[in-house]
Amino acid sequence: MKCEEALTKIEAYIDHTLSGRELEEFLEHVKSCRECYDELETYYIISVGMRYLEEENLESYNIPKMLQEDLHTRERQVRRRNIFRKTAVFLGVLFFIVLLVLVLSYLGHQELPRLF
Ligand SMILES: [Zn+2]
Repeated sequence: MKCEEALTKIEAYIDHTLSGRELEEFLEHVKSCRECYDELETYYIISVGMRYLEEENLESYNIPKMLQEDLHTRERQVRRRNIFRKTAVFLGVLFFIVLLVLVLSYLGHQELPRLF
């Protein structure tokens, strides 16, 4: 993802409206690009700060730290989604192989592999 694209996605990141793939690319970019991270932090502080003002929540918050926690949480979500997807593909392939072996052995083209 390039900077121009990342900058257009900041609002969507804050509003939680990025798709899984977009979120992954966005997180990768802001982790490695200081400028976009600073831009994200500015937007985040404004948006979260406004929300707290509206809620008349006057306690002091460390908003930059909240952003870092938010980034970590979403990174974990992306990682979990990827692991889930890989597991699903692996199980699909495994199921297909088992099915193939069963079909072939049923047709008498091949003996079932002896495991013991
Ligand atoms: Zn950038």
